[in-house]
Amino acid sequence: MDRRNFFQGSAAAAAAGLAGCTTMGNAAGGARTPFAVNTTSIPVVGSDEVFPVRRIYCIGRNYAAHAREMGSDPNREPPFFFQKPTDAIQYVATGTVADHPYPTLTKNYHYEAELVACIGKGGRNIPVASALDHVWGYTLGLDMTRRDLQRAMGDEKKPWEIGKSFDHSAPLGPVHKVAQTGHFTKGAIWLKVNGAIKQNANLNQMIWSVAEQIAKLSEANELFPGDIIYSGTPENVGPVVRGDVIEMHIDGLPNLSVKIV
Ligand code: MN
Repeated sequence: MDRRNFFQGSAAAAAAGLAGCTTMGNAAGGARTPFAVNTTSIPVVGSDEVFPVRRIYCIGRNYAAHAREMGSDPNREPPFFFQKPTDAIQYVATGTVADHPYPTLTKNYHYEAELVACIGKGGRNIPVASALDHVWGYTLGLDMTRRDLQRAMGDEKKPWEIGKSFDHSAPLGPVHKVAQTGHFTKGAIWLKVNGAIKQNANLNQMIWSVAEQIAKLSEANELFPGDIIYSGTPENVGPVVRGDVIEMHIDGLPNLSVKIV
């Protein structure tokens, strides 16, 4: 596809969005397509429904000690966000150890353990005070990162995508409904590699709470049901290699495990 056609395609997608359609499938109005494109959804605990994922947002540097280890000042930085493609999700069923492929191009592949908020009600300019009313459920996830490429691109003032937004970079557990778990504003979050503790912090150490993240994000983009938000990782991110087993935990959710292969 040449650049001209690419931008025409983007314009069509934008127009479909303005029309209130949430997917290109809807935009096509049931018309035949030349090939099938998968949609992404995550199983919901205690339900035969699945949670359809629209967008994956991720906040950066949201725990002070992690901001410092990444070389920034946690006291002065406003929140910032990036996205992963929706099909970067690798669903990991509870009680299983999923094989997670070591990605191409990197020699420094890092874990980041994070609470993930799943949006069920959209909006623009959502007030902090009512922001948690927009959360439908929670899960836990890994924001897997090609750290060497993320740093190299940052050093050159280029986009982070190749470091953050690649295939399988978003392992996630099943969605737990807020109605069953309540909200997660405090509690332990930890990550082990091969049984050894690596990250160990508390959700109440977030610089920007989940409610504040929703409020800020909704100033930049209208949020829609199906959006999910990775809420940031604590300090002590680090590398894994093939054969390593990652286990992560958040109080109130079942653990998530992957093996790097
Ligand atoms: Mn992260």
